[in-house]
Amino acid sequence: MTTHPYADDAMSFKETNPFESMMSRFDEAARLINLDPNIYKILRSPSREITVYIPTFMDDGRIEVFTGYRVQHSFVRGPAKGGIRYAPDVSLDEVRALAAWMTWKCAVVNVPFGGAKGGIVCDPQKMSIGELERMTRRYTAELLDFLGPEKDVPAPDMNTNEQVMAWIMDTFSMHARHTVTAVVTGKPIEIGGSRGRREATGRGILFVTNEACKKFNMDISKTRVVVQGSGNVGGIGAQLMQKEGYKIIAISEIKGGIYNPNGIDVNDALEYLKQNKTYEGYKEADFITNAELLELECDVLVPAATENQITSANADKIKCKILSEGANGPTTAAADQILYDKGIYVIPDILANAGGVTVSYFEWVQDRMGFFWREDEVNSRLKDTMVESFWSVNRYAEKHGVNMRIAAYMLAIDRVAYDLKLRGIYA
Ligand code: NAD
Repeated sequence: MTTHPYADDAMSFKETNPFESMMSRFDEAARLINLDPNIYKILRSPSREITVYIPTFMDDGRIEVFTGYRVQHSFVRGPAKGGIRYAPDVSLDEVRALAAWMTWKCAVVNVPFGGAKGGIVCDPQKMSIGELERMTRRYTAELLDFLGPEKDVPAPDMNTNEQVMAWIMDTFSMHARHTVTAVVTGKPIEIGGSRGRREATGRGILFVTNEACKKFNMDISKTRVVVQGSGNVGGIGAQLMQKEGYKIIAISEIKGGIYNPNGIDVNDALEYLKQNKTYEGYKEADFITNAELLELECDVLVPAATENQITSANADKIKCKILSEGANGPTTAAADQILYDKGIYVIPDILANAGGVTVSYFEWVQDRMGFFWREDEVNSRLKDTMVESFWSVNRYAEKHGVNMRIAAYMLAIDRVAYDLKLRGIYA
């Protein structure tokens, strides 16, 4: 058995390999819907995988060559769509899994996109703004033939943000010789971004968690929430949930988190994190590790940091009633069954965090119309999509006697397979 460098010894490499994680759910869902074997073969592989080497001038005059990926998993339902992440441990297997997840996610919320994902192996914390800009622009230039509003539309993900999207849009536009706003989503509002996009993933988590609470007759004001991650998804998600009336009892970032059973003032804690780059020393709560945070007794757990946080090694210690997956792939396939046996209700990533891609779709539509919506319009359309998708997956799960995750995959694969058959196979 090969051991993954970051994995607990008890876990196999297979369990923490996101591509294996995605594939085992795909295979199970495909079997349950009796997927045509030919369609199965097509959907199991990405359409295209691109690796680029990105020469970048560093501030000291050296040239560093970074490795970047873009995997386009499917174009069946529309242009490929998916974020770009910057991190030292980005790998092709990870990007491949994330690209397929985007296909299923877009299908779950029924937006007319396929799936893609990109990443650059780099350590953005150790790079200057100038270095990040030059690397981003050269990565975009290497991918010019493959990106575009009708081809593939990137968005932010871990360690990328509105500024990075602005650089991609500008580089693409310089080569096109005119401004092409719809080539990326998650841009600053001033240059074609959508109102509400920055908060969309967190807001989507809020909407689906509200529906799950309704399902279980839970009173929001008595619902204790633990959030892992303080970035776009975790930080904003926690702020919005607190505003709604939930009690946030713990929140973390990569170096650790804070816990107070009486509740945390999220805005104050995030401000402290911004100033100090750590939660350590925050007076209003106890400092805890991420491992401790995940095992806290609570009603709702929102893992909103990264993959493989809930595995066969800790799943039996998870004590929430509802698991709202903010991150992509926070739970391994092996952990799914353990959570299910414990009676934990999982709102799977491809449903729970689909608010981001939903408003990205709205941004793409607005860019193409050249007509921009009010924030309340964006939020109310997002709410309709999330609430409807939540109950569709819930109904599907009840009808077929499966858990929410497998139901979401079954629904998504069914939709993509149906559309693929309608188009016909050009083979
Ligand atoms: P981000 O970079 O804004 O924030 C990530 C947060 O997680 C930070 O607080 C960081 O300190 C923490 N973190 C990173 N690695 C960690 C680790 N190993 N242990 C504990 N904490 C860790 O990223 P984000 O955009 O919030 O994305 C978080 C997750 O949500 C990712 O899985 C991403 O793919 C997913 N996601 C993001 C969006 C979006 O719109 N941004 C949409 C859907 C899904």
